[in-house]
Amino acid sequence: MLNKFLGKFSKDLAVDLGTKNTLVYTIDKGIVINEPSVVAVNIRTNEILAVGEEAKKMVGKTPSHIKAIKPLNEGVISDFEVTEKMLKYFVDKVHSESFTLIPRPRMIIGIPIDITEVEKKAVEDAAKSSGARKVYLIEEAMAAAIGARLPVTEAVANMIVDIGGGTSEIAVISLGGVVTYKSLNVAGNCFDSDIIDYVREEFNLLIGEQVAENIKIKIGSAIEQKERVEIEVRGRDLLNGLPRAVIVDDSQVREAIAKSISKIIESIKITLEITPPELVADIYENGIFLSGGGALLRGLDKQIAQATKIPVRISDDPLTCVVRGMGLLLSDNEMLLKVLAPGSEET
Ligand code: ADP
Ligand code: MG
Repeated sequence: MLNKFLGKFSKDLAVDLGTKNTLVYTIDKGIVINEPSVVAVNIRTNEILAVGEEAKKMVGKTPSHIKAIKPLNEGVISDFEVTEKMLKYFVDKVHSESFTLIPRPRMIIGIPIDITEVEKKAVEDAAKSSGARKVYLIEEAMAAAIGARLPVTEAVANMIVDIGGGTSEIAVISLGGVVTYKSLNVAGNCFDSDIIDYVREEFNLLIGEQVAENIKIKIGSAIEQKERVEIEVRGRDLLNGLPRAVIVDDSQVREAIAKSISKIIESIKITLEITPPELVADIYENGIFLSGGGALLRGLDKQIAQATKIPVRISDDPLTCVVRGMGLLLSDNEMLLKVLAPGSEET
């Protein structure tokens, strides 16, 4: 009764707790938080110095007593305490910007499909200790499909490929549930480390994570593009330890990340192989939908289409697709109950 009363004054939230980015959505304002999942901690005092964008600026630049922590790894919580604090910080930020008396929101939160019971419990606990009155768990692939406005509760199969920072998830969805799936820890971060390795081997140059990500975003592609593009890259010469700059072009980036892309495509093919034939027929008809930041890699859609002979579509604004999908569920309780992650009904 008290909970119900308090809930009336609070804003229900949808939360996409990603390896790379955390997004929060409210019904009346849409996306209110969109920040990197990073927390800067003073390890001498255990004090949190910065969260999100602020903390990301510190990655790789901190003195020894400050650590920039990415508390999620491959989509699951690897540092519970820090995840909990990060989530609480974001939730408090949302509520401090509105006239909420006592924030006790309902919270819809995304989880990977192959999460263990222990990991699931950790997400629920983090959500509750950030102030959530009631927690609903949704598989991120399901949320992405809803965000892409696919008819997830109908007897029609759709395939979602969500390529995030730590993991790629491939899921076939029909009648409100995941029918077949495959999850692999090859995604955006992998492309970045491929680029770091390539530049090290090819140029004897050591570059940082953010430099590698920038190369990928600026000139990266999966298949040859109309124009050749290049970028100047700065790093540390491995032979003499001094700063040095080299020019990297798009074909070199393609060569660097080719193996990782093949692994993702291989997993899509395997998922199709384990999917019942009637559903595969639907997928041929409806196409494959890409979501997650990795979907923005130039030409990845075309390469997947060529390899699978299935049309591929990139969902609108793939980086926000998951949180928008969960956001739609905030105001559609009937649908929410149909698509909840298995076993999360009692929470
Ligand atoms: P997560 O859900 O794991 O937090 P996101 O869906 O937010 O991940 O995607 C983050 C990944 O997308 C990062 O690896 C990032 O480098 C990558 N990314 C973002 N924009 C682009 C782009 N334009 N081209 C290629 N990759 C991108
Ligand atoms: Mg994600």
